[in-house]
Amino acid sequence: MAPFARLTEQKLVDYKAVTPPAPTATISAPEAPSSAKPKIGFVSLGCPKNLVDSEVMMGLLHNAGGQLTPSADDAEIIVVNTCSFIDSAKQESVNTILEMAQHKQANGGRAHRLIVAGCLVERYRDEIRRNIPEVDAVVGTGELEAILTAAGLTPKPTPQPDSPFHILPQGTPQSTIHTHPIGKTQTDAEVAHLIERAPSAVHQHSRPLTDREVAPQLKIIQSLAETGTTHGDSPLAHPGNHIAHIPDAGTKSLPPMKPGAPHLDSAMWVSQDARVHPPSQNEGWEGTTPSRPEGNLREQQGRFSRAAWDGASSTLPDYLYSDATPRILTTPRASAYIKIAEGCDHPCSFCIIPQLRGKFRSRRMSSILAEAENLISQGVREITLIGQDTTCYGEDLGFTEGLSELLAALAVLPGLKWLRFLYTYPNKVTNRLLETMAKHDNIAKYLDVPLQHASASVLKRMKRGGSAQIFLSLIERARRIVPEIVIRTSFIVGFPGETEADYKELEDFIKAARIDWLGVFTYSDEEGAKAFDLPAELKVPKRTIQSRRNKLMKLQQKISAKSKAAWVGRELDLLVEGESEETELLWEGRTLLHAPEIDGKVFINDFGPHETLVPGTFYRAEITESHDYDVVARILD
Ligand code: SF4
Repeated sequence: MAPFARLTEQKLVDYKAVTPPAPTATISAPEAPSSAKPKIGFVSLGCPKNLVDSEVMMGLLHNAGGQLTPSADDAEIIVVNTCSFIDSAKQESVNTILEMAQHKQANGGRAHRLIVAGCLVERYRDEIRRNIPEVDAVVGTGELEAILTAAGLTPKPTPQPDSPFHILPQGTPQSTIHTHPIGKTQTDAEVAHLIERAPSAVHQHSRPLTDREVAPQLKIIQSLAETGTTHGDSPLAHPGNHIAHIPDAGTKSLPPMKPGAPHLDSAMWVSQDARVHPPSQNEGWEGTTPSRPEGNLREQQGRFSRAAWDGASSTLPDYLYSDATPRILTTPRASAYIKIAEGCDHPCSFCIIPQLRGKFRSRRMSSILAEAENLISQGVREITLIGQDTTCYGEDLGFTEGLSELLAALAVLPGLKWLRFLYTYPNKVTNRLLETMAKHDNIAKYLDVPLQHASASVLKRMKRGGSAQIFLSLIERARRIVPEIVIRTSFIVGFPGETEADYKELEDFIKAARIDWLGVFTYSDEEGAKAFDLPAELKVPKRTIQSRRNKLMKLQQKISAKSKAAWVGRELDLLVEGESEETELLWEGRTLLHAPEIDGKVFINDFGPHETLVPGTFYRAEITESHDYDVVARILD
């Protein structure tokens, strides 16, 4: 059976049992929108990198006259931005598409168009159309501006013909910065609910999710099955999650906005005349598509080939957004992600991201700086740099220490309180990078370095290289150069050929390395990844994989509890996020040592001299208690 059909099979049976058949979909010729400002609902799945793509598409749609709505019932056009990272992420994407299809006119809903975007499209472009006829159009990761045609909207004329930063051929906004892009027709509460979060398969949190955190997504699915609507306990305020989802207002009134929930009143057009930051000598100019020698070599070796992927386009994505691209922020008001690069050139044998996202390519530093300045001028105080591998940043533009240079340039921007970067590659963590972190107070002493394993033989089969010894010396070097650095990593257990001895080596490594934040993925076969073709006798039984993961997480629980105990008594700056989801008696926040969404929590049980706290504001706080993954703080001033 074709792989995509397998993903849709069971769900389609359930779905079609309760849903009348939809008319044959129009794929390439969108109908005219039913109103001048069609209401558009947006569901975004997957990682923060995909979230930025969603924010860009939302910006483009709004710029062209679309009106974003938090209600799937209300939406005339629904967009699902999908993830295709691993099997469970694909299934999650398919389920969401089918759920949103129930809001189409043919099924008694209001929506007349359903658009599927993102990584699933790069993998199964034709199959999505074939297997889910309710889907009217698909938009890949390399064609974000095609969202306008798919939605039947006309891009606005190009306003800055002489800007060297026009990535989009049409539709960039004219004015420098626009706040409140959603317009006067929507209240803050409505705007805040445009994006909802629920757990996703793409991240392994260093803090296991609680039942309450896991519940919302299930609740949405159940509620759809029962009533055809989504509603209820909004997962919006779960900062540890990754699915942006359209909640349903339906016949129910929207719940009041919780303090700390994502605020789209912080949403903005990230747009500025790029000439403020002309490209430096090292940077390529518009029209050129630089690449890394490593990427060129891997391309020759077939790393990016989709020849074996039925129904996928052979054209690799090469899109990059810029500071001139409209974008709507969906993260809490003080924080924003900036995607500094796209694609990946590495050969990791378990991963299909390079085939999905294309060759590694960096945004120009001047464009990133301009975007950061705009964000800061809008009240963003914490910027998190992301990309598939941030440590390769700039290699395609002629930099040798591009990330260090970028961090140094960003760190001195007035008003930027916290700066961090995620997704580093172990052999690219240079002394210069660590020294840059140590030098600037506002750069998080936080190294996110996915190691994937510690056994040299497993790492070799993974096509990553490294060993326990090499990684221990990296961690020792990081701790020496950046005192008090916090390390986050993730591992994969059960990779084909992983023996008990390999697993034991990983366990010993974790004991020796005392990693602060750690997540563990269980290996799953991904068609298209090199590891998929490894001999069947090398594949580790699922029960063994699960049991190894459980053992590692138990081991890590003890290590984490010990390291959190050492935090007690420390005074730190705390970014308050709002009332806790776990109990109304507590509030929550993050320190510079907690990345957004993935790490443990800081509960606040004492407001100190304050009557109340303001979400999105920094306070000085003292850690007073510790638990396995979380700590408790009291506000000092
Ligand atoms: S570094 Fe490896 S695991 Fe990460 S995106 Fe690239 S190929 Fe995939």
